[in-house]
Amino acid sequence: MIPLEKIVSLAKRRGIIYPGSEIYGGLANTYDYGPVGVEIMRNIKEAWWKFFVQGIDNIVGLDASIISHQKIWQASGHTSGFADAMIDCKNCRSRFRADHLIENEKEDLKVEGLSEEKLSDLIKKFHVKCPNCKKEEWTAVRKFNLLFPVNLGIVEGDKSLAYLRGETAQGIFINFKNIVDSTRVKLPFGIAQIGKSFRNEITLGNFIFRTIEFEQGEIEYFFDPQAQNWEKIFEDWKKTMWVFVTKKLAIDEKKLRWREHTDEERSFYSTRTEDLEYKFSFGFKELWGIAYRTDYDLKKHMEVSGVDLTIDDSNTGKRITPHVIEPAVGINRLLLMVLADSYDEDGERVVLKLDPKLAAYKAAVFPLLANKPDLVNKARSIYDGLKEDINVVWDDRGNIGKRYFAQDEIGTPFCITVDFQTLEDDTVTIRDRDTMKQARVEVKSLKSEILKKLSI
Ligand code: ATP
Repeated sequence: MIPLEKIVSLAKRRGIIYPGSEIYGGLANTYDYGPVGVEIMRNIKEAWWKFFVQGIDNIVGLDASIISHQKIWQASGHTSGFADAMIDCKNCRSRFRADHLIENEKEDLKVEGLSEEKLSDLIKKFHVKCPNCKKEEWTAVRKFNLLFPVNLGIVEGDKSLAYLRGETAQGIFINFKNIVDSTRVKLPFGIAQIGKSFRNEITLGNFIFRTIEFEQGEIEYFFDPQAQNWEKIFEDWKKTMWVFVTKKLAIDEKKLRWREHTDEERSFYSTRTEDLEYKFSFGFKELWGIAYRTDYDLKKHMEVSGVDLTIDDSNTGKRITPHVIEPAVGINRLLLMVLADSYDEDGERVVLKLDPKLAAYKAAVFPLLANKPDLVNKARSIYDGLKEDINVVWDDRGNIGKRYFAQDEIGTPFCITVDFQTLEDDTVTIRDRDTMKQARVEVKSLKSEILKKLSI
Protein backbone atom coordinates (compact mmCIF):
# COMPACT_ATOMS: atom_id res chain seq x y z
CA MET A 1 0.00 0.00 0.00
CA ILE A 2 1.32 3.41 -0.94
CA PRO A 3 1.27 5.68 2.13
CA LEU A 4 -0.92 8.75 1.80
CA GLU A 5 2.07 11.07 2.42
CA LYS A 6 3.59 10.03 -0.90
CA ILE A 7 0.44 11.02 -2.76
CA VAL A 8 0.19 14.30 -0.83
CA SER A 9 3.76 15.12 -1.71
CA LEU A 10 3.39 14.20 -5.38
CA ALA A 11 0.19 16.26 -5.53
CA LYS A 12 1.96 19.33 -4.16
CA ARG A 13 5.12 19.05 -6.24
CA ARG A 14 3.34 18.48 -9.55
CA GLY A 15 0.45 20.94 -9.38
CA ILE A 16 -2.31 18.49 -8.58
CA ILE A 17 -3.49 19.59 -5.12
CA TYR A 18 -2.23 22.29 -2.74
CA PRO A 19 -3.21 22.99 0.87
CA GLY A 20 -5.89 25.71 1.03
CA SER A 21 -4.95 29.32 1.96
CA GLU A 22 -1.34 28.20 2.23
CA ILE A 23 0.48 31.56 2.27
CA TYR A 24 -1.62 32.54 5.31
CA GLY A 25 -0.69 29.44 7.23
CA GLY A 26 -3.37 27.23 5.73
CA LEU A 27 -7.05 26.68 6.52
CA ALA A 28 -7.80 23.25 7.92
CA ASN A 29 -9.66 20.81 5.66
CA THR A 30 -9.58 23.00 2.56
CA TYR A 31 -7.56 22.32 -0.58
CA ASP A 32 -6.90 24.01 -3.90
CA TYR A 33 -6.61 22.09 -7.15
CA GLY A 34 -3.66 23.06 -9.32
CA PRO A 35 -3.25 23.07 -13.12
CA VAL A 36 -2.87 19.29 -13.34
CA GLY A 37 -5.43 18.46 -10.63
CA VAL A 38 -8.14 20.59 -12.16
CA GLU A 39 -7.76 18.78 -15.49
CA ILE A 40 -8.02 15.34 -13.88
CA MET A 41 -11.04 16.45 -11.83
CA ARG A 42 -12.75 17.78 -14.94
CA ASN A 43 -12.09 14.50 -16.72
CA ILE A 44 -13.63 12.56 -13.83
CA LYS A 45 -16.69 14.82 -13.79
CA GLU A 46 -16.96 14.59 -17.55
CA ALA A 47 -16.80 10.78 -17.38
CA TRP A 48 -19.53 10.76 -14.71
CA TRP A 49 -21.78 13.13 -16.64
CA LYS A 50 -21.30 11.26 -19.94
CA PHE A 51 -21.96 7.90 -18.36
CA PHE A 52 -24.92 8.71 -16.12
CA VAL A 53 -26.63 11.72 -17.69
CA GLN A 54 -25.91 11.59 -21.40
CA GLY A 55 -25.56 7.81 -21.47
CA ILE A 56 -28.79 6.81 -19.71
CA ASP A 57 -31.99 7.75 -21.55
CA ASN A 58 -34.24 8.49 -18.60
CA ILE A 59 -31.81 10.66 -16.62
CA VAL A 60 -31.73 14.44 -16.93
CA GLY A 61 -29.26 16.95 -15.49
CA LEU A 62 -29.65 19.93 -13.18
CA ASP A 63 -27.47 22.65 -11.68
CA ALA A 64 -29.20 24.15 -8.65
CA SER A 65 -28.09 27.03 -6.46
CA ILE A 66 -25.57 26.42 -3.68
CA ILE A 67 -27.08 29.13 -1.46
CA SER A 68 -30.47 27.92 -0.52
CA HIS A 69 -33.59 28.84 1.46
CA GLN A 70 -33.51 27.98 5.16
CA LYS A 71 -36.86 26.21 4.83
CA ILE A 72 -35.37 23.62 2.48
CA TRP A 73 -33.10 22.45 5.27
CA GLN A 74 -35.77 22.61 7.92
CA ALA A 75 -38.08 20.52 5.76
CA SER A 76 -35.38 17.96 4.94
CA GLY A 77 -34.52 17.56 8.62
CA HIS A 78 -30.96 18.83 8.25
CA THR A 79 -31.22 21.78 10.63
CA SER A 80 -32.12 19.40 13.44
CA GLY A 81 -30.74 16.00 12.39
CA PHE A 82 -27.63 16.66 10.34
CA ALA A 83 -25.10 16.52 13.12
CA ASP A 84 -21.93 14.69 14.00
CA ALA A 85 -20.87 13.61 17.46
CA MET A 86 -17.73 15.47 18.46
CA ILE A 87 -15.38 15.33 21.39
CA ASP A 88 -12.62 17.66 22.56
CA CYS A 89 -9.28 16.87 24.11
CA LYS A 90 -9.09 18.85 27.36
CA ASN A 91 -5.32 18.86 27.26
CA CYS A 92 -4.51 20.17 23.77
CA ARG A 93 -7.98 21.37 22.76
CA SER A 94 -8.04 19.39 19.52
CA ARG A 95 -11.51 18.44 18.32
CA PHE A 96 -12.42 15.09 16.76
CA ARG A 97 -15.40 13.13 15.55
CA ALA A 98 -16.06 10.62 18.30
CA ASP A 99 -17.10 7.83 15.91
CA HIS A 100 -13.94 8.26 13.85
CA LEU A 101 -11.70 8.07 16.90
CA ILE A 102 -13.24 4.74 17.84
CA GLU A 103 -13.22 3.35 14.30
CA ASN A 104 -9.60 4.34 13.98
CA GLU A 105 -8.80 2.33 17.09
CA LYS A 106 -10.92 -0.71 16.10
CA GLU A 107 -10.74 -1.03 12.30
CA ASP A 108 -13.82 -3.13 11.63
CA LEU A 109 -16.16 -1.57 14.15
CA LYS A 110 -18.81 0.79 12.71
CA VAL A 111 -20.21 3.15 15.34
CA GLU A 112 -21.56 6.10 13.33
CA GLY A 113 -25.07 6.94 14.55
CA LEU A 114 -24.64 5.60 18.11
CA SER A 115 -25.85 7.88 20.89
CA GLU A 116 -23.49 10.37 22.54
CA GLU A 117 -23.50 8.28 25.73
CA LYS A 118 -22.60 5.06 23.93
CA LEU A 119 -19.78 6.78 22.06
CA SER A 120 -18.43 8.22 25.32
CA ASP A 121 -18.55 4.75 26.87
CA LEU A 122 -16.63 3.20 23.97
CA ILE A 123 -13.95 5.88 24.10
CA LYS A 124 -13.45 5.09 27.78
CA LYS A 125 -13.63 1.34 27.26
CA PHE A 126 -10.97 1.28 24.53
CA HIS A 127 -8.84 3.91 26.31
CA VAL A 128 -8.70 5.96 23.12
CA LYS A 129 -5.91 8.52 23.30
CA CYS A 130 -5.81 11.92 21.66
CA PRO A 131 -4.14 11.46 18.23
CA ASN A 132 -2.50 14.85 18.73
CA CYS A 133 -1.10 14.88 22.29
CA LYS A 134 -1.60 11.20 23.24
CA LYS A 135 -3.39 12.10 26.48
CA GLU A 136 -6.67 10.52 27.54
CA GLU A 137 -8.52 13.57 28.87
CA TRP A 138 -11.78 13.90 27.01
CA THR A 139 -14.82 16.15 27.31
CA ALA A 140 -18.24 14.54 26.95
CA VAL A 141 -19.41 13.75 23.42
CA ARG A 142 -21.66 16.48 21.95
CA LYS A 143 -23.64 16.90 18.75
CA PHE A 144 -22.46 19.45 16.25
CA ASN A 145 -24.56 20.59 13.27
CA LEU A 146 -22.83 20.41 9.92
CA LEU A 147 -24.76 23.02 7.96
CA PHE A 148 -23.07 26.32 7.11
CA PRO A 149 -25.39 29.25 7.75
CA VAL A 150 -24.99 32.35 5.58
CA ASN A 151 -26.54 35.74 6.14
CA LEU A 152 -27.86 37.50 3.10
CA GLY A 153 -27.45 41.26 3.05
CA ILE A 154 -30.57 42.27 1.22
CA VAL A 155 -33.20 41.07 3.66
CA GLU A 156 -33.67 41.84 7.33
CA GLY A 157 -33.89 39.79 10.51
CA ASP A 158 -34.50 36.06 10.48
CA LYS A 159 -35.29 36.12 6.80
CA SER A 160 -31.67 36.83 5.98
CA LEU A 161 -30.63 33.33 7.10
CA ALA A 162 -29.86 30.90 4.30
CA TYR A 163 -27.58 27.86 4.12
CA LEU A 164 -24.82 26.67 1.88
CA ARG A 165 -26.21 23.35 0.73
CA GLY A 166 -25.10 20.33 2.74
CA GLU A 167 -25.92 17.98 -0.11
CA THR A 168 -26.89 18.50 -3.74
CA ALA A 169 -29.88 16.17 -3.37
CA GLN A 170 -32.21 18.84 -1.93
CA GLY A 171 -31.78 21.00 -5.03
CA ILE A 172 -33.18 18.07 -6.97
CA PHE A 173 -36.21 17.57 -4.72
CA ILE A 174 -37.17 21.22 -4.75
CA ASN A 175 -36.95 21.32 -8.56
CA PHE A 176 -38.88 18.10 -9.01
CA LYS A 177 -42.08 19.92 -10.04
CA ASN A 178 -40.22 22.31 -12.36
CA ILE A 179 -38.65 19.40 -14.19
CA VAL A 180 -41.84 17.38 -14.43
CA ASP A 181 -43.74 20.44 -15.74
CA SER A 182 -41.12 21.65 -18.18
CA THR A 183 -39.70 18.45 -19.70
CA ARG A 184 -41.01 15.13 -21.00
CA VAL A 185 -39.85 12.92 -18.15
CA LYS A 186 -42.13 10.13 -16.99
CA LEU A 187 -41.66 7.55 -14.27
CA PRO A 188 -39.26 5.98 -13.71
CA PHE A 189 -36.68 8.72 -14.30
CA GLY A 190 -33.65 10.23 -12.65
CA ILE A 191 -32.37 13.75 -12.02
CA ALA A 192 -28.62 14.11 -11.68
CA GLN A 193 -26.40 16.88 -10.49
CA ILE A 194 -22.72 17.57 -9.90
CA GLY A 195 -21.78 20.44 -7.65
CA LYS A 196 -20.27 21.74 -4.47
CA SER A 197 -21.62 20.89 -1.05
CA PHE A 198 -20.47 22.21 2.30
CA ARG A 199 -20.27 20.54 5.69
CA ASN A 200 -18.66 21.94 8.78
CA GLU A 201 -16.87 18.65 9.37
CA ILE A 202 -14.33 17.66 11.95
CA THR A 203 -11.89 15.41 10.19
CA LEU A 204 -8.97 13.14 10.83
CA GLY A 205 -6.89 14.75 8.15
CA ASN A 206 -6.86 12.10 5.43
CA PHE A 207 -6.02 14.70 2.76
CA ILE A 208 -8.97 15.36 0.41
CA PHE A 209 -10.95 12.34 1.64
CA ARG A 210 -13.08 14.55 3.89
CA THR A 211 -13.13 18.32 3.48
CA ILE A 212 -15.53 21.07 4.43
CA GLU A 213 -16.10 22.05 0.81
CA PHE A 214 -16.39 19.21 -1.69
CA GLU A 215 -18.09 18.17 -4.85
CA GLN A 216 -20.85 15.62 -5.04
CA GLY A 217 -22.33 13.72 -7.93
CA GLU A 218 -25.84 12.74 -6.93
CA ILE A 219 -28.70 11.06 -8.76
CA GLU A 220 -32.24 10.85 -7.47
CA TYR A 221 -33.98 8.04 -9.31
CA PHE A 222 -37.77 8.47 -8.98
CA PHE A 223 -40.12 5.50 -9.36
CA ASP A 224 -43.52 4.20 -8.36
CA PRO A 225 -43.03 1.54 -5.67
CA GLN A 226 -46.40 -0.04 -6.59
CA ALA A 227 -45.28 -0.53 -10.18
CA GLN A 228 -41.65 -1.42 -9.60
CA ASN A 229 -39.70 -3.48 -7.14
CA TRP A 230 -37.28 -1.21 -5.26
CA GLU A 231 -34.89 -4.03 -4.46
CA LYS A 232 -34.38 -4.71 -8.15
CA ILE A 233 -33.77 -1.02 -8.91
CA PHE A 234 -31.33 -0.89 -5.99
CA GLU A 235 -29.40 -3.93 -7.26
CA ASP A 236 -29.35 -2.60 -10.84
CA TRP A 237 -27.92 0.71 -9.64
CA LYS A 238 -25.23 -1.09 -7.67
CA LYS A 239 -24.17 -2.86 -10.85
CA THR A 240 -24.11 0.39 -12.81
CA MET A 241 -21.97 2.10 -10.16
CA TRP A 242 -19.57 -0.85 -10.16
CA VAL A 243 -19.22 -0.68 -13.96
CA PHE A 244 -18.44 3.04 -13.78
CA VAL A 245 -15.71 2.61 -11.18
CA THR A 246 -14.07 -0.46 -12.67
CA LYS A 247 -14.46 0.30 -16.38
CA LYS A 248 -14.63 4.08 -16.76
CA LEU A 249 -12.20 4.91 -13.95
CA ALA A 250 -10.28 1.65 -14.42
CA ILE A 251 -10.01 0.93 -10.68
CA ASP A 252 -8.71 -2.40 -9.44
CA GLU A 253 -11.77 -4.55 -8.48
CA LYS A 254 -9.84 -6.23 -5.70
CA LYS A 255 -9.72 -2.95 -3.77
CA LEU A 256 -13.49 -2.47 -3.83
CA ARG A 257 -16.25 -3.91 -1.68
CA TRP A 258 -19.90 -3.30 -0.75
CA ARG A 259 -20.91 -2.76 2.85
CA GLU A 260 -24.46 -2.44 4.16
CA HIS A 261 -25.16 0.18 6.83
CA THR A 262 -26.23 -1.01 10.24
CA ASP A 263 -29.57 0.20 11.65
CA GLU A 264 -27.89 2.83 13.87
CA GLU A 265 -25.64 4.12 11.15
CA ARG A 266 -28.30 4.52 8.46
CA SER A 267 -29.73 8.02 8.00
CA PHE A 268 -33.14 8.62 9.50
CA TYR A 269 -34.79 8.85 6.06
CA SER A 270 -33.38 5.69 4.54
CA THR A 271 -34.75 2.13 4.37
CA ARG A 272 -31.55 0.61 3.04
CA THR A 273 -28.10 2.13 2.53
CA GLU A 274 -25.00 0.47 1.17
CA ASP A 275 -21.57 1.92 0.64
CA LEU A 276 -19.18 1.09 -2.11
CA GLU A 277 -15.85 1.19 -0.29
CA TYR A 278 -12.32 1.52 -1.61
CA LYS A 279 -9.28 0.20 0.19
CA PHE A 280 -7.28 3.36 0.90
CA SER A 281 -3.98 3.17 2.78
CA PHE A 282 -5.98 4.25 5.86
CA GLY A 283 -8.47 1.38 5.49
CA PHE A 284 -11.62 0.50 3.55
CA LYS A 285 -13.60 3.75 3.37
CA GLU A 286 -16.85 4.96 1.83
CA LEU A 287 -16.53 6.15 -1.69
CA TRP A 288 -20.08 6.04 -2.92
CA GLY A 289 -23.33 5.59 -1.02
CA ILE A 290 -26.57 4.21 -2.38
CA ALA A 291 -29.69 4.82 -0.31
CA TYR A 292 -33.37 4.05 -0.66
CA ARG A 293 -34.77 7.37 0.61
CA THR A 294 -38.41 6.37 0.03
CA ASP A 295 -40.79 9.35 -0.46
CA TYR A 296 -39.43 11.03 2.67
CA ASP A 297 -38.02 14.18 1.05
CA LEU A 298 -40.84 14.92 -1.41
CA LYS A 299 -43.41 14.41 1.37
CA LYS A 300 -41.55 16.74 3.73
CA HIS A 301 -41.25 19.44 1.07
CA MET A 302 -44.96 19.13 0.29
CA GLU A 303 -45.76 19.48 3.97
CA VAL A 304 -43.59 22.54 4.54
CA SER A 305 -44.01 24.37 1.21
CA GLY A 306 -47.66 23.47 0.63
CA VAL A 307 -46.83 22.76 -3.03
CA ASP A 308 -48.22 19.59 -4.58
CA LEU A 309 -45.32 17.35 -5.59
CA THR A 310 -47.34 14.33 -6.61
CA ILE A 311 -47.22 13.07 -10.18
CA ASP A 312 -49.36 10.94 -12.51
CA ASP A 313 -47.77 7.60 -13.16
CA SER A 314 -48.62 7.13 -16.83
CA ASN A 315 -48.07 3.37 -16.48
CA THR A 316 -50.78 2.90 -13.86
CA GLY A 317 -52.86 6.06 -14.27
CA LYS A 318 -52.55 6.73 -10.53
CA ARG A 319 -51.44 9.95 -8.85
CA ILE A 320 -48.54 9.17 -6.52
CA THR A 321 -45.64 10.56 -4.57
CA PRO A 322 -42.65 8.82 -6.14
CA HIS A 323 -40.00 7.06 -4.11
CA VAL A 324 -36.30 7.54 -4.75
CA ILE A 325 -33.11 5.56 -4.83
CA GLU A 326 -30.05 7.75 -4.53
CA PRO A 327 -26.51 6.95 -5.64
CA ALA A 328 -24.34 9.74 -4.15
CA VAL A 329 -20.60 10.06 -4.62
CA GLY A 330 -17.89 12.55 -3.70
CA ILE A 331 -15.95 13.62 -6.78
CA ASN A 332 -12.91 14.54 -4.66
CA ARG A 333 -12.97 11.05 -3.20
CA LEU A 334 -13.06 9.63 -6.69
CA LEU A 335 -9.99 11.72 -7.46
CA LEU A 336 -8.17 10.51 -4.34
CA MET A 337 -9.01 6.92 -5.25
CA VAL A 338 -7.83 7.42 -8.84
CA LEU A 339 -4.53 8.90 -7.61
CA ALA A 340 -4.01 6.14 -5.04
CA ASP A 341 -4.92 3.39 -7.47
CA SER A 342 -2.71 4.62 -10.28
CA TYR A 343 0.35 5.58 -8.21
CA ASP A 344 3.25 3.30 -9.02
CA GLU A 345 6.92 3.32 -8.09
CA ASP A 346 9.68 1.70 -10.06
CA GLY A 347 12.93 2.51 -8.22
CA GLU A 348 13.31 6.29 -8.44
CA ARG A 349 10.64 6.54 -11.09
CA VAL A 350 7.13 7.51 -9.95
CA VAL A 351 4.39 6.88 -12.49
CA LEU A 352 0.72 7.70 -12.34
CA LYS A 353 -0.73 4.89 -14.43
CA LEU A 354 -3.93 6.79 -15.08
CA ASP A 355 -6.42 5.65 -17.62
CA PRO A 356 -5.51 7.90 -20.60
CA LYS A 357 -9.02 9.36 -20.63
CA LEU A 358 -8.45 10.71 -17.12
CA ALA A 359 -4.91 11.98 -17.64
CA ALA A 360 -4.52 15.78 -17.49
CA TYR A 361 -2.60 15.82 -20.76
CA LYS A 362 -2.78 13.06 -23.35
CA ALA A 363 0.66 13.80 -24.76
CA ALA A 364 3.65 16.06 -24.15
CA VAL A 365 5.62 17.56 -27.02
CA PHE A 366 9.36 18.29 -26.65
CA PRO A 367 12.01 19.78 -28.88
CA LEU A 368 15.12 17.68 -28.19
CA LEU A 369 17.07 20.86 -27.44
CA ALA A 370 15.42 24.07 -26.34
CA ASN A 371 18.14 26.29 -27.86
CA LYS A 372 17.90 25.07 -31.48
CA PRO A 373 15.33 27.23 -33.31
CA ASP A 374 14.78 24.66 -36.10
CA LEU A 375 13.82 22.00 -33.58
CA VAL A 376 11.72 24.37 -31.49
CA ASN A 377 9.80 25.71 -34.52
CA LYS A 378 9.11 22.23 -35.84
CA ALA A 379 8.00 21.03 -32.41
CA ARG A 380 5.75 24.08 -32.05
CA SER A 381 4.01 23.42 -35.33
CA ILE A 382 3.42 19.77 -34.35
CA TYR A 383 2.17 20.87 -30.95
CA ASP A 384 -0.22 23.44 -32.46
CA GLY A 385 -1.58 20.85 -34.89
CA LEU A 386 -2.28 18.32 -32.13
CA LYS A 387 -3.72 20.90 -29.78
CA GLU A 388 -6.80 21.44 -31.92
CA ASP A 389 -8.09 17.97 -31.06
CA ILE A 390 -6.08 16.65 -28.13
CA ASN A 391 -5.14 18.18 -24.80
CA VAL A 392 -1.34 18.29 -25.16
CA VAL A 393 1.33 20.03 -23.13
CA TRP A 394 4.58 21.72 -24.16
CA ASP A 395 7.71 20.87 -22.21
CA ASP A 396 11.21 22.17 -22.89
CA ARG A 397 12.68 22.20 -19.38
CA GLY A 398 16.02 20.52 -18.60
CA ASN A 399 16.96 17.38 -20.48
CA ILE A 400 14.77 14.69 -22.02
CA GLY A 401 15.24 12.38 -19.02
CA LYS A 402 13.92 15.02 -16.63
CA ARG A 403 10.96 15.71 -18.89
CA TYR A 404 10.03 12.02 -19.06
CA PHE A 405 10.34 11.86 -15.29
CA ALA A 406 8.03 14.85 -14.82
CA GLN A 407 5.43 13.65 -17.34
CA ASP A 408 5.38 10.16 -15.80
CA GLU A 409 4.66 11.73 -12.42
CA ILE A 410 1.51 13.40 -13.72
CA GLY A 411 0.49 10.40 -15.80
CA THR A 412 0.91 11.76 -19.34
CA PRO A 413 0.51 8.64 -21.50
CA PHE A 414 2.74 9.72 -24.43
CA CYS A 415 5.80 11.89 -24.94
CA ILE A 416 6.65 13.09 -28.44
CA THR A 417 10.19 14.24 -29.16
CA VAL A 418 11.26 16.30 -32.16
CA ASP A 419 14.93 15.59 -32.90
CA PHE A 420 17.40 16.15 -35.72
CA GLN A 421 16.06 13.20 -37.69
CA THR A 422 12.64 14.90 -37.70
CA LEU A 423 14.11 17.71 -39.77
CA GLU A 424 15.30 15.16 -42.33
CA ASP A 425 12.47 12.63 -42.65
CA ASP A 426 9.47 14.18 -40.85
CA THR A 427 9.24 11.48 -38.18
CA VAL A 428 9.18 11.87 -34.39
CA THR A 429 9.67 9.50 -31.49
CA ILE A 430 6.67 8.63 -29.40
CA ARG A 431 7.37 7.16 -26.00
CA ASP A 432 4.84 5.13 -24.04
CA ARG A 433 4.50 5.93 -20.30
CA ASP A 434 3.86 2.36 -19.19
CA THR A 435 6.26 0.36 -21.36
CA MET A 436 8.82 3.20 -21.70
CA LYS A 437 9.28 1.98 -25.30
CA GLN A 438 9.90 4.46 -28.07
CA ALA A 439 8.79 4.17 -31.66
CA ARG A 440 9.26 6.43 -34.68
CA VAL A 441 6.09 7.72 -36.24
CA GLU A 442 5.51 9.89 -39.29
CA VAL A 443 4.32 13.37 -38.38
CA LYS A 444 1.44 13.14 -40.83
CA SER A 445 -0.05 10.13 -39.05
CA LEU A 446 0.82 11.27 -35.50
CA LYS A 447 -2.60 12.60 -34.53
CA SER A 448 -4.51 9.53 -35.74
CA GLU A 449 -1.92 7.30 -34.10
CA ILE A 450 -2.41 9.01 -30.72
CA LEU A 451 -6.18 9.07 -31.02
CA LYS A 452 -6.10 5.36 -31.81
CA LYS A 453 -3.94 4.64 -28.76
CA LEU A 454 -6.22 6.71 -26.56
CA SER A 455 -9.29 5.14 -28.17
CA ILE A 456 -11.15 8.43 -28.01
P1 ATP B 1 -19.48 10.08 5.55
O1 ATP B 1 -20.15 8.94 6.27
O2 ATP B 1 -18.15 9.71 4.93
O3 ATP B 1 -19.48 11.38 6.28
P2 ATP B 1 -21.95 10.48 4.27
O4 ATP B 1 -22.50 9.09 4.34
O5 ATP B 1 -22.40 11.52 5.19
O6 ATP B 1 -20.36 10.39 4.26
P3 ATP B 1 -23.40 11.24 1.97
O7 ATP B 1 -24.20 12.28 2.60
O8 ATP B 1 -24.02 9.93 1.63
O9 ATP B 1 -22.07 11.00 2.80
O10 ATP B 1 -22.71 11.89 0.70
C1 ATP B 1 -22.44 11.17 -0.47
C2 ATP B 1 -20.98 11.12 -0.81
O11 ATP B 1 -20.39 12.41 -0.70
C3 ATP B 1 -20.14 10.25 0.10
O12 ATP B 1 -20.18 8.92 -0.32
C4 ATP B 1 -18.76 10.83 -0.07
O13 ATP B 1 -18.11 10.28 -1.21
C5 ATP B 1 -19.03 12.28 -0.33
N1 ATP B 1 -18.76 13.09 0.87
C6 ATP B 1 -19.55 13.26 1.94
N2 ATP B 1 -19.00 14.10 2.82
C7 ATP B 1 -17.80 14.48 2.29
C8 ATP B 1 -16.76 15.35 2.71
N3 ATP B 1 -16.85 16.01 3.85
N4 ATP B 1 -15.70 15.49 1.92
C9 ATP B 1 -15.61 14.84 0.75
N5 ATP B 1 -16.56 14.02 0.29
C10 ATP B 1 -17.65 13.83 1.04
